Parts: sequence; structure tokens; C-alpha cells
Amino acid sequence: MTRVLVVEDEVGLAETIRDGLGRQGFTVDLAHDGVEGLWTATETPHGAYDAVVLDIMLPKLSGYEVCRQLRGRGIWTPVLMLTAKDGEYDEADALDLGADDYLVKPFSFVVLIAHLRALIRRGAPERPAVLHAGDLSLDPAERRVARGTTTIAVTPREFALLEFLLRNRGHAVTKTAIIENVWDAHFDGDPNIVEVYIGYLRKKIDHPFGRSAIETVRGAGYRLAADG
Ligand code: CA
Repeated sequence: MTRVLVVEDEVGLAETIRDGLGRQGFTVDLAHDGVEGLWTATETPHGAYDAVVLDIMLPKLSGYEVCRQLRGRGIWTPVLMLTAKDGEYDEADALDLGADDYLVKPFSFVVLIAHLRALIRRGAPERPAVLHAGDLSLDPAERRVARGTTTIAVTPREFALLEFLLRNRGHAVTKTAIIENVWDAHFDGDPNIVEVYIGYLRKKIDHPFGRSAIETVRGAGYRLAADG
């Protein structure tokens, strides 16, 4: 039996999804706001759900928060995020925020089924390991950045940028590589956005600690010092 939790505040859409998935042999539970969704996903025995369909714009607690808190509690059920084109978050953000896949509203039911089946076949993602450079650490599972024991608040984009730098620590990465990995390969905005975000990160992970871990490599890009 395949069991799916659908967290969606538009009652009509939630019921349409439930009925449609039901006809495909899925068992569906519904939650209509973020708090109810988080509670249902957390209190149901782990592993009971094969996937969670999670709307981003939800009353009480956003889908983003629900996803973050699920991951923070060690719940790795695959999450399919529903995003609105004109919403507060875009598709790339949905993935940055810990979702495994996303669909932009409005979507066709056939596409929803295909995405869900693929997600369920893949199964729960591996809990990623904590990345380190000296005393600088980034925990992809808990979405946490720290210098020693000091937790540092970063935005999803800063988090993704730091994660990319950490995965390449000790090596210079070009602006192009950063854009392709942290924004996306089809990004056609101003590449100087990288400089701006490097500046934001330095103000958070370096300057307050009297450090300069993020080095500018002339003509090459940026390098995060291996020793942080
Ligand atoms: Ca909504």
C-alpha cells in the first residue's frame, strides 16, 4: 500500500488530489494547514508515509517551515513541494529548502502522478553528512551553519552558496560554476550577483570572527580555505 500525506489549504484542490490518487491505488491523508501537516507527518509512525505533497503557501506554518522542521526531526520522507509561479519562493528555492522535487501550480494530474511515482521509487534521501572547514560547519540535514558552537543565521541562497564552497574547500571555484550550481544553468541575470552573495557570507561567517576564510582568487573566482 502506498500512503501519501497531502498538505494543501485549498480544500477543493486537496480533495481533487485525494480522489485522483485514490483511483490510482494510493491511500491519502489530508492536512489543511502547516501545523496540522507537521503534526500529522511527525506523529504518524516513521516510514508510514511514502511521500508528502506539500504546498508552500499554507496558513499557520509555511510549507518551507514544515519541510525544514521535518528534516530537523530526522524525518526523511520524500517531499514534493507545490509552488505558485507568483509565489514568495521559486522552484530553485523549493529544492534549496529541503524538498526532493517540486511542481509549479497549476499542474496536470498526470504530471503529479508521474512525479510522485518517481519520487517514491527513489525512496527517502540519504541523510547528508555535516561539512567542515576548520571550525566552520554546515549541516545539510538540519540546515544549520556554525562557527565553533555559534549558530549563524543564513538565507537559503547563502546556505546553498556556502555548501558549494565547502564541498570544494581548498579549491578555487569560478563564478560560472557557482552560478550553475547555486542558481541554475539557465541563469541569465547579472553574474555579479555572486560577488554580492560572497559579500553577504563574509559578513556572517568571517568578519564577526576576525577570519577571512573566503578568499578571492584573481581571475579564477573564490576559494574557501580548507582550514576555515
Ligand atoms: Ca496554499
